[in-house]
Amino acid sequence: MKHLQQILSQACDSVRKEIAIGKTANYIPALARINPNKFGAAIVTVEGEIFRYGDATEPFSIQSISKVFALTLALNKLGDQLWLRVGREPSGSAFNSIVQLEKELGIPRNPLINAGALAVTDVLLEKSSSDNCVSEILSFIQTLANDDTVKIDAEVAQSELNTAHRNISLAEFMKSFNNIRCDVSEVVKAYCHHCAISMNCEQLARSFLFLANEGKDPVTGKQVVSPQRARRINSIMMLCGHYDASGDFAFRVGLPGKSGVGGGIVAVVPNVAAITVWSPCLNSNGNSHAGTAALEAITQATRWNIL
Ligand code: GLU
Repeated sequence: MKHLQQILSQACDSVRKEIAIGKTANYIPALARINPNKFGAAIVTVEGEIFRYGDATEPFSIQSISKVFALTLALNKLGDQLWLRVGREPSGSAFNSIVQLEKELGIPRNPLINAGALAVTDVLLEKSSSDNCVSEILSFIQTLANDDTVKIDAEVAQSELNTAHRNISLAEFMKSFNNIRCDVSEVVKAYCHHCAISMNCEQLARSFLFLANEGKDPVTGKQVVSPQRARRINSIMMLCGHYDASGDFAFRVGLPGKSGVGGGIVAVVPNVAAITVWSPCLNSNGNSHAGTAALEAITQATRWNIL
C-alpha cells in the first residue's frame, strides 16, 4: 500500500471538484453562513500517527457527531437499561422526523436521530442542570481528544436554540409518553449546546480512536468503554449513522461512521484508525456530499472497508 499521506491527499484531491455540490445546512442560520469551499480531512491511526489534508485543523460545528459522545456517556451511566428508552434499529426516516414516534409510543428508533439523542440527553440531564450536563459532555470530549481547547460555539448554540421548533416538538411529544423526564426546555438547551461543540478534523478523529481500538484509547491506555460496548456503538453507527442514507453510506464506504449537518463525518476503521472529513455542502439527506465521496475514495485505496 502507498504511504497513507499520499493516499489521503490523492483521495481528497480526486473529489475536490465536488465540494460545491449540495447546500450548507440552512435551517440553522449560523451554519448557513459557513464558507462552502472549506475542505479538510485527517486520519489518526491506533499507533498515534496523524495525517492531515486541507483545512484539517480548522474547527467546525460537530452537530450530530456529538450524539455518539452523548450515547457513550449514557451507556456508561445506565448500561443496557438505556435500551428501554431508545431503540437500536435504523429509522429509514429523516434525522428530525416525528412520524415513527407516535406509532412506536415515544421510543425513538435509535440514539443517532434527533429524537433518540434528545432521549439520551434527558438521561444525562437527570439530577443535573443543562449547564452541568453540557460540561460533562464537553470534558469527556476534551479527554478523548486529549485537548482541553475544544469548546462550544455559543453563536451556533444560540442560533440553533432560536430555531429549535422541531426539536422542541420531538421532546414535547416524547414527554407525553414519559420518555422525556426532565424539563423540555432544559433538554433542548443541553442538546443544542452539545451539537454546537466545535472541533477540527484531527481532534475528532483522535477522539473516536477508542472506538477503533476495542474501547481503549490506544495513546493514553485508558479503557473508555468495554470492547463489547465499543463494538455495539460501532454497529449502531454502521446501521444508523447517516439517517435514511445509512444504507447508501455502508454501500459506498463500508465503515461505521457518523455525520453531522456541519458537514463533518467521522468513520471508524476497527483496529486501524479513525478518519474525519469535513466539507460543508450537504446532500438531500443532510450528509456531506464531498465528505462521503472522499471516504469512499479512501476506502477504495486502502481497502479498509469492513463490508
Ligand atoms: N443540531 C442538529 C439538529 O438538531 C443536528 C442534526 C445533524 O447534525 O444531523 O437539527
